[in-house]
Amino acid sequence: RQVMEQHIELSQHARSLEWLVQKRTSELANANEAKDKFLRIVSHELKTPLSGLKDMAQFLRNQLDHEVDTQVLRQGFEDMEHVISRTEILVRDLLDTSMMESNMFVLHRKRVNLVSLCQRVLNEYTAGGIARLASEIVAESIEVDVDSDRICQVLVNLLSNAHKYSGPDAPITIRLQQSGYEAMMMLEDQGMGIPEEEQKRIFEQFYRVPIGSKQSGEQQGSGLGLYIARKIMERHSGRLDVQSVQGNGSTFTCVLPVSIDPDFADEGSYHLE
Ligand code: ADP
Repeated sequence: RQVMEQHIELSQHARSLEWLVQKRTSELANANEAKDKFLRIVSHELKTPLSGLKDMAQFLRNQLDHEVDTQVLRQGFEDMEHVISRTEILVRDLLDTSMMESNMFVLHRKRVNLVSLCQRVLNEYTAGGIARLASEIVAESIEVDVDSDRICQVLVNLLSNAHKYSGPDAPITIRLQQSGYEAMMMLEDQGMGIPEEEQKRIFEQFYRVPIGSKQSGEQQGSGLGLYIARKIMERHSGRLDVQSVQGNGSTFTCVLPVSIDPDFADEGSYHLE
């Protein structure tokens, strides 16, 4: 009887081991598939700017066979610089995405005043010639413990989307306020809006609203910006959400916890900007 009981116990162990091995194998297969898909998309995304640059370089080289028109050369080099800048952003976003996926994404937090940080981004953005930007910042100081470069990255991304996906003169408004223990940054545009069924998907890697619904079709982009922006907010224990009505604009809301940890200042990283 004792032998019987031992046998039953052993076969139960064997079954649960077998189940674990199966589970792990299928997890590995899924991870491998996701990695293959990522590589496929990356190669595809990089192929377009690279072949564009090759064509431009060939065009410029051919110019040398004729009498050199400096205006044509200047325009050609400017176009190349433009493609290179876009590709740099794409490569940065691809690196961020892969770091986030493998949990190697590190934040360098400091205590900062979110009001000054927002104002700095707004000043840089308006200096770049975007006149239709308005701001409603009701607080004088909202302290948060954040990686300011990363929070700037989120803001710049939301601003550039608001700009890309609305008409050239449509106003864009940024609002900043504190509500209890939360800081809220809202970016409102009066652009094309996002259909309700797409609103969850725009935060997925590489997702762009399909061309058929006349959304992102004509605009350049990789579909990584919002995925990264949301991950950055989540890593700060915050959130990023959207409210939008198709044809009537969108509001992206970033929420961050305000700093309440008095010891944070004693870590040697205290720095109020
Ligand atoms: P992309 O590089 O395509 O702009 P994002 O991840 O930043 O990638 O955005 C994903 C998609 O969400 C965009 O392709 C666009 O379809 C939609 N989207 C983002 N922001 C807006 C906005 N402010 N108004 C309308 N659609 C937007």
